Amino acid sequence: MADDKNKNNRKWNLNLNLNSENPDNRRRTAYYLLMALSVLMFLNYFALPSYMNRSVEEVTYSTFLDQVNGGDVSEVKLEDTQITFVATDDAGDKQVYVTGIIEDPTLVTRLEEADVTFSKDIPTEASPIVSLLVSWVLPLLLFWGMGNLLAKQMTKRMGGGAGGALSFGKSNAKVYVKAGDDAKTFKDVAGQDEAKEALSEIVDYLHQPKKYQDIGAQNPKGILLVGPPGTGKTLLARAVAGEADVPFFSISGSEFVEMFVGRGAAKVRDLFKEANEKAPCIVFIDEIDTIGKKRDSGGYGGGNDEREQTLNQLLAEMDGFEANKGVVILAATNRPESLDAALLRPGRFDRRVPVELPDLAGREAILKVHAKKYKMDPAIDYNTIARATSGASGAELANIINEGGLRAVREGRTSVTQNDLEESVETVIAGYQRKNAVISPKEKEIVSYHEIGHALVAAKQTESAPVHKITIIPRTSGALGYTMQIEEGEKSLMTKQELFNKIVTLAGGRAAEEIVFGSITTGASNDIEQMTRMARAMITRYGMSDTFDMMQIETQTNKYLGGDTSMNVSAGMAEQVDREVLDIIKQAHEKAIAILNENNQKLHELSHYLLVEETITGAEFMKILEN
Ligand code: ADP
Ligand code: MG
Ligand code: ZN
Repeated sequence: MADDKNKNNRKWNLNLNLNSENPDNRRRTAYYLLMALSVLMFLNYFALPSYMNRSVEEVTYSTFLDQVNGGDVSEVKLEDTQITFVATDDAGDKQVYVTGIIEDPTLVTRLEEADVTFSKDIPTEASPIVSLLVSWVLPLLLFWGMGNLLAKQMTKRMGGGAGGALSFGKSNAKVYVKAGDDAKTFKDVAGQDEAKEALSEIVDYLHQPKKYQDIGAQNPKGILLVGPPGTGKTLLARAVAGEADVPFFSISGSEFVEMFVGRGAAKVRDLFKEANEKAPCIVFIDEIDTIGKKRDSGGYGGGNDEREQTLNQLLAEMDGFEANKGVVILAATNRPESLDAALLRPGRFDRRVPVELPDLAGREAILKVHAKKYKMDPAIDYNTIARATSGASGAELANIINEGGLRAVREGRTSVTQNDLEESVETVIAGYQRKNAVISPKEKEIVSYHEIGHALVAAKQTESAPVHKITIIPRTSGALGYTMQIEEGEKSLMTKQELFNKIVTLAGGRAAEEIVFGSITTGASNDIEQMTRMARAMITRYGMSDTFDMMQIETQTNKYLGGDTSMNVSAGMAEQVDREVLDIIKQAHEKAIAILNENNQKLHELSHYLLVEETITGAEFMKILEN
């Protein structure tokens, strides 16, 4: 088996070798070849003998003699360190045995008497030079070659190629001097109109700086793109480069601090030196929060020193060059609140461009931009998909289209259909379908009632989003069922009543279990988590409680990532908050039970229908409900 694998390896390498045209590929191939060779040598030394031994049985010398005397042995090979022989075993099959050597002058006579063919190995006639070469020089050469390759790759990664060891530690910014085939333009960025508008001013400045200089206007030195992950900040920066058609230096904050301690500051210096030479140009620092964190935060240990030096150097460089030299610095971050204040001072990143999550129209546009790269069914209604993905980022939407494409291929279609997209919405948002998961019929019934509980409560309340789809096909996310509601239009504001109704809807699942089965399950844990969070936010952040009026009780410390909160009230107040949260939850729970009791018959009817169908649409649901 080991042998086969190696053969395959070698074939694969050969193929690579034939196909590679550019030197970079060839070097990589050489590298793989070396690796494969050394693996082979390793196997040769250690693995192969044991592999061969496996089919050979080891016996004692006396057994060997017994077998010779018994006439079972047909062939013997005397080797330097062992005796290998073939004998018929008890079952009458031929089997290879091996035994150790014992000084036994009578052996030859015995073998002759037993009429056994025997032979002795002729020592291989390899000259000492050849064996020296094979066992010493070749491995050394191999290691030397591998070391060389590694070293070359390392310097290349750090030094941007030319200059070898001398350019050690130069800035590893990637320079896009000319817009290539994969250049992005504003057309590739859907939605984000405000961000594009703010950035097109920069593009204009880079095209005709004189227009601005004549009036005496200073262009902003640094522009900070701020927004949640996946909203297209990196994409926008690349689009600016594509539009402006000037050199574009791109580096990620984390690259400044990788590899060697103490190189970060030097990298910044090199980067700006190069940028100054190439002006007009754009320097883009992605994920700037990696180096630009507040300097006072958690200042223990030497670890921060490195980052701090890098940041100081960056600040110094930004102050150092004149605004109208034509170097524009773009940076992007998900966590603006963690940035050092010095970075945001006038003359540094003095302009902020918010890049927010897309709204309904934006989502539709993003879906369409990405759909262009796929073969789509012309009948697809992107608006429906956009409405089902409220809160999704551009990256997630791109992923939804791609998942749809993968699904179409899996199902053997030649174009992506509406259904593919709807499925992939759930894939991306709720996890994969697990059609094969085994669930007992009883559990399925409970899940069915639970989901209809949600849907029925939602439908029986006014000011509540309509039900779009209910399914009891489990997801890999762990959810056993799923009720999807879709808002009719874009919603940015929610009334107190709407929020409360949402909490009631969340309570509907558990309420149905109670009413129908008289017992409760763990299935509501996610609902409980969500309703508690919402009830809490109503009181602590949205000023929706009578007791606390418009007092802010909790502050969101990180708006974009996770939304951590911190309390800013006394312990006594906190107790009161908890009481009010509990109150809301209890009211919601009671209301859900009341609604379901009123519609008990529909609850059963719908649940049975869902149990059979497994997935029903909002329209089917409404038809049964209204009839
Ligand atoms: P960020 O840097 O904000 O985290 P990216 O720019 O890396 O996000 O976006 C990731 C991917 O998501 C992009 O490559 C693109 O395919 C897609 N995307 C995000 N926003 C948009 C948008 N507004 N228009 C088109 N595609 C987008
Ligand atoms: Mg990014
Ligand atoms: Zn639920």
